[in-house]
Amino acid sequence: MAFQRKKKFKIHRRIEERVDFFDGLPDDIVTCILAKLSSSASSPSDFVNILVTCKRLNRLGLHPLVLSKACSKVFDIKAEKWSDSAHRFLKECVNSGNAEASYTLGMIRFYCLQNPGSGASLMAKAAMKSHAPALYSLAVIQFNGSGGSKSDKDLRAGVALCARAAFLGHIDALRELGHCLQDGYGTRQNVAEGRRLLVQANARELAAGLRSPVWMSNYYRRCLSPPVPVGCSLLSDFGCIVPERELHPANRFLKEWFESGRGAVGEKLRLCAHGGCGRPETRPHEFRRCSVCGKVNYCSRGCQALDWKLRHKAECNPGERWLEEDGADVDGGGGEMAGVEDGENVLFE
Ligand SMILES: [Zn+2]
Ligand SMILES: [Zn+2]
Repeated sequence: MAFQRKKKFKIHRRIEERVDFFDGLPDDIVTCILAKLSSSASSPSDFVNILVTCKRLNRLGLHPLVLSKACSKVFDIKAEKWSDSAHRFLKECVNSGNAEASYTLGMIRFYCLQNPGSGASLMAKAAMKSHAPALYSLAVIQFNGSGGSKSDKDLRAGVALCARAAFLGHIDALRELGHCLQDGYGTRQNVAEGRRLLVQANARELAAGLRSPVWMSNYYRRCLSPPVPVGCSLLSDFGCIVPERELHPANRFLKEWFESGRGAVGEKLRLCAHGGCGRPETRPHEFRRCSVCGKVNYCSRGCQALDWKLRHKAECNPGERWLEEDGADVDGGGGEMAGVEDGENVLFE
């Protein structure tokens, strides 16, 4: 009798081991779990690993709800791995209503795939969903008349887009808006308000830096070892060293695309000199150059101000300007970004 009970128990245990409770979960619950996972993925491979697990996860992983929630890290595609299937995947996400995918694909089409019309409309799609980087990118396009001619510049539209992005907390847009107000560029000049926004942009930059785990590890490293320059000197004027900001996947893609030679910048066209930007000119002399040395070009005031603090301040040499004057700005209307002082007093011509 005891032997029979023992045998029954063994069989029962074996059956229990074989039951996969996951199979018992209804599709909509699994879809919700996958949507949560795609919104918190830390790389594209996190998402791909789900798709290759089994047929069921592949089917549910490509559900519009899951695609609509995918975060920017899922679209952090390496420029060298760009393919038709990557393009199709981004399109699927756009069709599912994912604003982050609209922005990323918009940037890639506008600047890398020479399709400015469709790129701008994808960015506009994201901007309509209050996607701050998309609003800021459209502002840069309006300020420069990118994808068109010099007469396509619309400074007032640029300022309006910047203001909307700044309101949503976009630091670069806030900095750009501060410069516009300070210089009366595309809006009525208001020096005091402009400076207030620039101070606010610096404060937010600092707050974002201090929240970053990189800053904490650098802080402890500085405590334990002799002083070494870590992070960036963005706020060095104020005695603070904050870590360099993490690039948005779209900017990283642009940078890799042109730097790796996967895509070529057209003849007589230049890349924005700020390392964290990656935007190329869409016509000769579109970007304005540093009027002190005349050697570097920027897509925006924000990029110039950042690059000045990070790098160019140490390299800018007024002497070279007079030796290498090339009489630029014939038809592009780029003009100059003149005299840079310390702090945020960047003046433009
Ligand atoms: Zn730039
Ligand atoms: Zn310079």
